[in-house]
Amino acid sequence: MSEKDFETKLNEAYDKMMERVQQLFDDAEQQALPTLQRNLDKAKKQAVELKELTHDEAEKIALYIERDLHDAADYIESSGKTVSEWLAFDFEQVENRLLELFASVADKTRLELQQITQMAKTAQQYHTGEVAGIGTLVCDACGCELNFTKTSRIPPCPKCHKTTFSRKKAS
Ligand SMILES: [Zn+2]
Repeated sequence: MSEKDFETKLNEAYDKMMERVQQLFDDAEQQALPTLQRNLDKAKKQAVELKELTHDEAEKIALYIERDLHDAADYIESSGKTVSEWLAFDFEQVENRLLELFASVADKTRLELQQITQMAKTAQQYHTGEVAGIGTLVCDACGCELNFTKTSRIPPCPKCHKTTFSRKKAS
């Protein structure tokens, strides 16, 4: 598999895992907390059983999703704003389906974190080579902004070629 195909595979796997997590949330309204972790575990298993991903790939994608959701949920909770505002760029560039999916799961994550009071207090770090969901990342070294209008593998900073990023926080 070429590097490009591998990248596409991981990006698509991220979106598919997010869809499964959403589906599981919808099926699980009555279940006990914490549902996000359990849903991610189920979605991971599914991807491996269907041979879409190796065990290691599934573990990674699940971590990327959890990181993005915690960042989004933390932002929504502390600012009272919406996922569209969190994206920090013109969200009309983002496919509706993807935006709705992300917003829906982020909101369920927020409600859950609110209840178990485990809101992520420290900013998550993002690295080149990882997959990130829609939104804006800021280079920790030079402040250059990368806008992701779809799920993407994080490149090196186009300006300074450094490899660590944080989510842009709206003021
Ligand atoms: Zn940079």
